Amino acid sequence: MKYGIDIGHNAPPDTGASGIRQEDNLTREVGLRVMSKLRALGHQVVNCTPQRASSVTNSLWQRTNRANVNRVDAFVSIHFNAFNRSANGAEVFAISSAGRRMARPVQEEIVKLGFFDRGVKNGAHMYVLRHTAAPAILVECCFCDARVDMDRYLAEPMANAIVKGLTGSAPAPTPTPSPAPSSVSEEVRQLQKVINRLKVTDGNSAGRALKEDGVFGSSTREATRRLQAILGLMTDGIAGDRTWRAIRQVLAKPILRANQAAGPAVRYVQYRVRVDIDGIFGPQTAAAIRRYQSSNGLTVDGIIGPQSWTRMIG
Ligand SMILES: [Zn+2]
Repeated sequence: MKYGIDIGHNAPPDTGASGIRQEDNLTREVGLRVMSKLRALGHQVVNCTPQRASSVTNSLWQRTNRANVNRVDAFVSIHFNAFNRSANGAEVFAISSAGRRMARPVQEEIVKLGFFDRGVKNGAHMYVLRHTAAPAILVECCFCDARVDMDRYLAEPMANAIVKGLTGSAPAPTPTPSPAPSSVSEEVRQLQKVINRLKVTDGNSAGRALKEDGVFGSSTREATRRLQAILGLMTDGIAGDRTWRAIRQVLAKPILRANQAAGPAVRYVQYRVRVDIDGIFGPQTAAAIRRYQSSNGLTVDGIIGPQSWTRMIG
């Protein structure tokens, strides 16, 4: 079989929902596993996820176009839901009867993991289902804004469930990518330094800073991914031009005021003052900044100026 796998969103301005976790990160960690597991079972896989897009419609068009141009046998779009923090569970959308036949076992396998069964639903309103020539499904794995789902969710079993549902075969565990051959690089050391300065951790090591050793290992990759998610970039764990450009925008310490500012610097500040990261400096962000300023003994004005920047990144 030739599968077209579509990692939902991850192509700004096509970005996913924000919940307890970001949909972009979840679809990516599941989607990449689904792809490697399908390949390990001997299937062909076409990654239908674009890297960038001029609009959301263009992002969706690129996905279906890749599937159609590559004449895939089946198309699978991976998403996570978000609604009101209490709605929860899994649902799979399809239109055609072939699509529904593909959807049902995927839904059943996800439900076996303990998620509430919202059923197979009619996806006639969904662009990627309407525009794909092959039988297509859109999997809403569970709700990224529901505590009950995020407590239950793990990427590996979710990916296994999708692959088992698609193929009928139980996939092997995804091998954890071995760290790249250890060559010390000054560029990697610079990256590690800036990640530490920005106080982004790899999320696994109890908030410990990265070793500034110039070796691009799994901690550095994971911390890079987290930094990319904070800055609103494709979370590929590779610090390319776009990532460095966004980092420089933060290090430039721009003065940020409510309703006047947007972009990576605002997203970074939102990360530091612990408010939802959406890149928009609205009243909630201003309030969180005031709290941050107050608890750090700074002038409480809700504006990010030199004082607050120095406190945050030195
Ligand atoms: Zn989505």
